[in-house]
Amino acid sequence: MTEKENRRYKVKMACPQCGCSNLTTLSREEIQQRFGDLPNVELDCHECMIKYETARADACPEWDAECLMMQEGKGAS
Ligand SMILES: [Zn+2]
Repeated sequence: MTEKENRRYKVKMACPQCGCSNLTTLSREEIQQRFGDLPNVELDCHECMIKYETARADACPEWDAECLMMQEGKGAS
């Protein structure tokens, strides 16, 4: 296991309906399953149970940066 595989990403949730915010950490694998490389991510609020979409860059800047790097890598080949 490399350090990169063990890396955990902070995901910030801010519910547009009840205004609660929540910080969670997900592994690379979990985040890939949930978000893939979409520009918007779908989150659900633990307080009022709604689902909402937010920009990936807002929810998880670290993951956004990784996705951009991956896209650049693809484009360059
Ligand atoms: Zn809520």
